[in-house]
Amino acid sequence: MRAILVTKDEGYRADLAEVDEAQLPEGDITVRIEYSTLNYKDSLALTGASPIVRSFPMIPGIDFAGIVETSGSGDYSPGDRVVLNGWGVGEVHWGGFAEKARVRSEWLVSLPGSLTTRQAMAIGTAGYTSMLCVLRLEKLGVLPDAGEILVTGAAGGVGSVAVSILASRGYTVVASTGRPEEAGYLERLGAAEIIERSELSQPGRVLGKERWAGVVDTVGSHTLANACAATRRDGVVAACGLAQGSDLPLSVFPFIRRAVTLAGVDSVYCSRPQRLLAWDRLAEELDPAHLDLMTSEIGLEEVIAAAPEQLAGRIRGRVVVNMGR
Ligand code: NDP
Repeated sequence: MRAILVTKDEGYRADLAEVDEAQLPEGDITVRIEYSTLNYKDSLALTGASPIVRSFPMIPGIDFAGIVETSGSGDYSPGDRVVLNGWGVGEVHWGGFAEKARVRSEWLVSLPGSLTTRQAMAIGTAGYTSMLCVLRLEKLGVLPDAGEILVTGAAGGVGSVAVSILASRGYTVVASTGRPEEAGYLERLGAAEIIERSELSQPGRVLGKERWAGVVDTVGSHTLANACAATRRDGVVAACGLAQGSDLPLSVFPFIRRAVTLAGVDSVYCSRPQRLLAWDRLAEELDPAHLDLMTSEIGLEEVIAAAPEQLAGRIRGRVVVNMGR
C-alpha cells in the first residue's frame, strides 16, 4: 500500500513509500482509508518541528475516514463507514496517511448517517475539536445571548469550523486573524466582526476592558493571556491550541477578580460519549456549504510539501487528503 513513512535513521525525514500491509500494527479492525486530512499536529509530525512522533518508523496522520475491510469486533462489519480521531494514532500507532490502517475497534466512531467520508475529514480533528470547545462553552453557561465570542486563529482549521458553528447557533462571533485578506471568507462563515491578530498577540495588561463572553482560542501564548484579560465576569475561555506558542504569560486576576473560567480542551483522549455527541452535533449543525467553502483537497503525494505551508499559517481552513487521487 502507499503510505507516508517518518523515519529518523538518517536524520528525521518523511517520505512517500510502498509499505507491506503485513506490517500494519495490531488491532481488530482493518480500514480502507478513503480520506485523511492535514491537521496542525500532522504538520508538526511530518516536519519534526515538535516531538509528536514517539515510535519509528511511523505512518503519521492523526485521523482518517474510510470503510471497514475486515473486522474481528462484534461492533463493526465489513462495509461500515467509520471515522477515527486521536488515541495516539499517527503518534505511537500507525495512522491515516496510508491506504489502509489497522486499529482497535473502540477507537472508531460510526459516521453519523448524513456525513460522507470526505465531509468527515473536511471536519477532521480540527472541526471535531471546535465542537468540543463549543460544548465546553455551553456546558459552562455561555449561551448565544451571552455576548460576543472571540475566535482566534480564525482562518485556520479549528477557527473556521468554530466561527461557522457558533454563528449558526446564533452567537455573535468576533474573528481574530493575521490575514485581513480572509475577512470576506470569515464573514461568509458568519463572523460579525474581524479583528487584526496583532491586537491580541503582544504582551498586554493583566486585566483589560471586559469584552468577551466566551473565547475559542487556538493560538495560546500572549493571545490567550490577552483573551483571558478581556473576558467578562463569569465568562469562559476554551483553550485548545498553540499556533502562536505553548507559553502562557498570564496573571491570576481574570480568575480571582472576574470569575473567568479557563477551560482546557483535549481531543485525543476525549471520552467516548463526548466524542459521539460532538460528531452527532457536527453532522446536524455544520452547514455543508460552509464546509465546502473552507475545504481544499490534495493527494497523498502532496502532503509532505503542504506541512511547512500549514505551520507558516498559509493554509486557509481545512485540507482533505484524498487517497484515491
Ligand atoms: P491551522 O494551521 O489550520 O490554523 C492555525 C491558525 O493559527 C492559522 O491559520 C493562523 O490563523 C493562526 N496562527 C498561525 N501562526 C500564528 C502565530 N504565530 N500567532 C498567532 N496566530 C497564528 O491549525 P488547526 O486549526 O488545525 O489547529 C490550531 C491549533 O489547535 C494548533 O495549535 C493545534 O495543535 C491545536 N489543536 C489542538 C487540539 C486538541 O486536542 N487540543 C486538536 C486540534 C488542534 P489566522 O491566519 O487566521 O491568524
